[in-house]
Amino acid sequence: MYLADLSQYRGFLQAPKEYTVLAIGWLDDLYPFPFGPTPVEFQQRLREHCTRGVHALTMGFHECQFCHRWNVGLWCGKKWVANNNGEIWIPDGNTIYAAPVMIYHYVTDHEYRPPEAFIDAMMRCPLPYEEEYQAFMRFIGWETDDLTREWNE
Ligand SMILES: [Zn+2]
Repeated sequence: MYLADLSQYRGFLQAPKEYTVLAIGWLDDLYPFPFGPTPVEFQQRLREHCTRGVHALTMGFHECQFCHRWNVGLWCGKKWVANNNGEIWIPDGNTIYAAPVMIYHYVTDHEYRPPEAFIDAMMRCPLPYEEEYQAFMRFIGWETDDLTREWNE
């Protein structure tokens, strides 16, 4: 699914109607994307969301259209965490930015540079395991998964 950055999100999740949900990082190789370096702290916070604040997991995994890898993911301790399935939602006031989890791979391996508004929102957003973030997700009716936890925990 390709969605232009900052266009209306058209995935299958819904938020309460007082929120505007905007798409970020739904890239496709048919369309050029902005690239350039992004702040390290932004990447670190993005990583936390893309591994520990994931929702809308689907049955399949997605191939990266740019490098054609199917096994996009990263090591979190001793656990391999897939990074090509699901979404992250980053609230900022009455706006929610919805991005595919693959955005972390796009940013770190393909130098995708998301819009400044999203970078700023990420810096303000609580981390996914903080109560403030979890309270917001409960409020809008979605639960997130921490993909780094072991199944028997
Ligand atoms: Zn790739």
